[in-house]
Amino acid sequence: MNKCTCGSSMCINIGESIQDGIFRWYVSYHCNNCGKNIEMDGSGVESIPKDIQALIIEQKGRWGLKSLSSEIKIKYLLRKILENYGNLDLPKDILYCGTQNQVKWLKSKLIEKGVAEKDLQIKKLEYRTEVAN
Ligand SMILES: [Zn+2]
Repeated sequence: MNKCTCGSSMCINIGESIQDGIFRWYVSYHCNNCGKNIEMDGSGVESIPKDIQALIIEQKGRWGLKSLSSEIKIKYLLRKILENYGNLDLPKDILYCGTQNQVKWLKSKLIEKGVAEKDLQIKKLEYRTEVAN
C-alpha cells in the first residue's frame, strides 16, 4: 500500500485527538529497511486527508451524529461550522459522520452554539452503512 523509495513497504501510524478544543490528526510512516520517516499532522476536522480519515475509520470505526430534535437547525449550524458540509454521503438520520473525535468535536461546537446536549447523540455506525437516497 505505502511503498518507501527503497522499495520496502512502510509501517503507518495514525491518530487523532481533541486538545484544548482543537481537533488534531497525525500520520507517520516508517521504513524498517532504510529507516526513512515521514510525518504529517494538522488541525481542524476538515484538514484531514481523506485517505488518512478512511484509515482511522477502518481502525476505530465510523461514527455519526444524530439529532433528537430539529434536523433543520442542526444542518444550518453545521453549514456555518464546516466549509464543505453538504457534500457528504450520509446514512439515513445521520447529520454528520467521520472519526469518533471529529464527531465529538462537532458535537461540542453545536453545544457552544446553543444546542442542548440531550438533543445530540453520537452513534457508532456499521462500517458499510446504507446511504440514504
Ligand atoms: Zn525504505
